Amino acid sequence: MIDTSECIEYDGYIAPSGYGQVGTRKYGTRYAHVVAWMKEYGYRPESLDLDHLCRNRACVNVKHLEPVTRAENLRRGISGRSKITREQAEEIRKLYATDKYYQQELADTYGVNQQTISKIINYDLWGEV
Ligand SMILES: [Zn+2]
Repeated sequence: MIDTSECIEYDGYIAPSGYGQVGTRKYGTRYAHVVAWMKEYGYRPESLDLDHLCRNRACVNVKHLEPVTRAENLRRGISGRSKITREQAEEIRKLYATDKYYQQELADTYGVNQQTISKIINYDLWGEV
């Protein structure tokens, strides 16, 4: 399925782990393949959630990357803790206010759906008392 001759190896710094790394002004050091993904699709999956189908960690060809289901992993990992705490809600609002994150990213990070994040941001959930 994957043609490894189409691998695009990152031509910058390659970390000992084998992943290309790139310094970004906004986000600090990031994996090159994650940056490539962000440029292509406009959102940021966590680095470890992008699987290299070609098994070439230095590859930045987005067609060779497949997001593994982080939401599912999180759901399993935090089963029984589906509710967001007030502290987390405040954290989510702060993170969203930085303009660095999309609602969906926050949803994935906290293991809830995007509608829940939207409600938190709009103070429909965990509003001020
Ligand atoms: Zn590749």
